[in-house]
Amino acid sequence: MPPSRPAAATAGLTVLVVGLALQLAANLGPNRGPNTGTGGGTGGGARADAGTHLPATGADSGSCSPASASRPLPLPAGPLLQPASIPAAVNPAAAAPANGDYRQQLSTTALGWPRLERWCVWLEPVNASEPAALWEQRWWQASQLALQRWQRLLPIERVDDPAAAQIRLLRRRPPRQPGPDGRLRASHGRANLQLLEVTRAGQSRVEPSVEVLISPGQRPQAIEATALHELGHAFGLWGHSDRAEDAMAAVPGAAPVLELSPRDRATLRWLYGQPTRFGAPLQAEPVRAAGKQPAGS
Ligand SMILES: [Zn+2]
Repeated sequence: MPPSRPAAATAGLTVLVVGLALQLAANLGPNRGPNTGTGGGTGGGARADAGTHLPATGADSGSCSPASASRPLPLPAGPLLQPASIPAAVNPAAAAPANGDYRQQLSTTALGWPRLERWCVWLEPVNASEPAALWEQRWWQASQLALQRWQRLLPIERVDDPAAAQIRLLRRRPPRQPGPDGRLRASHGRANLQLLEVTRAGQSRVEPSVEVLISPGQRPQAIEATALHELGHAFGLWGHSDRAEDAMAAVPGAAPVLELSPRDRATLRWLYGQPTRFGAPLQAEPVRAAGKQPAGS
């Protein structure tokens, strides 16, 4: 039994390729401004740099409603995630915090950075009646601890219905996958990204949809470190740090990383300050707003 998550890091970037035509820009409408302001008017344009929670929420009130429909987006053929060409900062000292970040390692999508203002996460529940309940509980506990680390930084809601979630954590060993050398490799964790058009509460929008597989066959701390890492991908950090002390390290060190490092946080902060179309309404549903009163309630 290997001591920690050996191949998890390199295998984390599984990407589903969606073929098909373009049509995107036409569908997607105008880019979302820095603050759509339809909610309670939380803080004007300021995002990313105030408080512990990064983005201002408010525009996503229906984001944890169960999906009534969802379909893959018609995207240009090719990998879903592509290396981003991040322009060098005019003033690097101002752009990068003292301890640095690894923004240059992140990949992005044709629709911009795959992140949301607010996430809904489903954690596979424990089936307590099974003989394996103890193992399941360990997995659940460790995964929950990892999720809590991210909850300190991002608006994340736990949901009971997988259909209400953009991120689903499954207690499952990822299938073996060919490594860079073509040989099949095992891993303890994997995050699979899809880009979907999802309708929630009558409103369609583009969402990243991430299935996170975390193997239960590890020590609790290794499960926790794996979950912390794979959740980082799910929340938009599609890339790896070159330092073992970061949760998003490409090659984990001997000791499992259970906390997000300053570099993890700095990279996340940078990411959530970047523009994206994810989460923006696709078309204003002709809601019966104006003259008519909605029926019921
Ligand atoms: Zn990874």
